[in-house]
Amino acid sequence: MGPLVEPVTSAERLPPQADVVIVGGGIIGTSAAFSLAQRGVNVALCEKGHIAGEQSSRNWGWCRRMGRDPRELPLSVVALRLWNEMHQLVGEDVGFRPAGILYTCDDDAAVGRRETWLKLAGDYALDTRMVAGAELERLLPGSTRKFRAALYTPSDGRAEPQKAAPAIARAAARRGATILTQCAVRGIETAAGRVSAVVTEKGRIACGSVVIAGGIWSRLLCQAQGLRLPQLAVRASVMRTAPVEGGPETAAWTPHFAFRKRLDGGYTVADGSANRYDIVPASFRYLADFFPVLKLEWKHLELRFGGRFFEEWGFSRRRSPGEISAFEKVRVMDPAPVAHQLEHARRALEQTFPVFKGVAIAQQWAGLIDALPDTVPVISPVDKLPGLFLATGFSGHGFGIGPGAGHLVADLVTGTKPVVDPSPFRYARLIDGTRPNPYTGV
Ligand SMILES: Cc1cc2nc3c(=O)[nH]c(=O)nc-3n(C[C@H](O)[C@H](O)[C@H](O)COP(=O)(O)OP(=O)(O)OC[C@H]3O[C@@H](n4cnc5c(N)ncnc54)[C@H](O)[C@@H]3O)c2cc1C
Repeated sequence: MGPLVEPVTSAERLPPQADVVIVGGGIIGTSAAFSLAQRGVNVALCEKGHIAGEQSSRNWGWCRRMGRDPRELPLSVVALRLWNEMHQLVGEDVGFRPAGILYTCDDDAAVGRRETWLKLAGDYALDTRMVAGAELERLLPGSTRKFRAALYTPSDGRAEPQKAAPAIARAAARRGATILTQCAVRGIETAAGRVSAVVTEKGRIACGSVVIAGGIWSRLLCQAQGLRLPQLAVRASVMRTAPVEGGPETAAWTPHFAFRKRLDGGYTVADGSANRYDIVPASFRYLADFFPVLKLEWKHLELRFGGRFFEEWGFSRRRSPGEISAFEKVRVMDPAPVAHQLEHARRALEQTFPVFKGVAIAQQWAGLIDALPDTVPVISPVDKLPGLFLATGFSGHGFGIGPGAGHLVADLVTGTKPVVDPSPFRYARLIDGTRPNPYTGV
């Protein structure tokens, strides 16, 4: 079972018409709805399950600029500004605390990699720096291990994934957005070569623009429009502990575990490196697209062949808008956590920080990360179909950048001057061969 997410009351009636319909009620869809509602746009958001039921409530809750692909840095600065203002913007505490983030290094090679990032980040590195010795020990109180050094950003922070998107959705509704849950979008209609409506399980909403912010489901929605979106899903497992006294305030990543303190006094903990990849039919279709990133990541990926292959096989069958869709069959994607990865993380955490010894594990869960081949999202209009916008493929780091991405989506949809240069996020890069290398952005 997934984490307990704060509830959001659904609008009772489907509006017959909206200027913009957003598909997906994760951090991206809700942030876009909020930004559009702030500008007075008539926006409806359709979520097949509950708000933040998938990745947006299951993530670690890290809100960082540090370590990002250079293409994402300007948008992550916007996002951090919005996180700092979030309490006032939405009128609720979503747990944002600029408590700092550390990437620890065990050896010179790791130090070299982090220093390279600092150079690449240039002016965007802001307050990020390398720390070591007594300063690092102060940041990781109680650690029995002496780390060689760490990359440290004091102004990066954490927020509560189980609170954030619901609070943003409620704030959007107060500003006039229509938030619909248990309302799957089955398809998109077009007229005269542009978007004209969405067909939901509850009826049709006529609209001029549609934003697909469907996380791992975006590929299927695109496929139905004849659009190629090379997107695959990686399973990441997480646990949360009961409250712990005297643990570190700063969130930290090590190759064996990663943690961050929660508002409830417990910690969200995961294996720092290992993830599972369930082979599905699309794995073969997009093998060439993902080959460069696979070469970099294969050591950290456990490949599995099992039930998900056949489940996805069933999803790809074309259905008419009158038929029950895959989106209704899986209201909330709730994959099983990988027990041995969590056990490994727990043992390593206890060895390094004895304060965690014997602390109860309150819950475990997993989420499917929506990955694109160059690990940078698409936030973009689709030239082939005017009125259609994509905001998807956040590749494991969309929570922290989410409020900024929502702002950018609203800029693109309304034709306002974009808050950052949107060209690194263009959809065309995935289909016209101009895709840059993973991680370097060059
Ligand atoms: C274990 C884990 C740890 C992570 N840690 C971090 C972290 O620390 N920091 C960070 O920045 N990021 C992190 N991420 C990534 C982050 O969670 C995601 O990038 C982000 O939540 C993506 O948000 P989203 O709104 O695009 O997608 P989602 O949250 O997946 O939302 C998409 C929504 O669309 C809905 N939907 C799909 N199709 C339809 C349809 N046809 N009709 C109606 N609704 C539909 C789905 O039900 C879903 O609720 C992590 C992810 C995982 C899984």
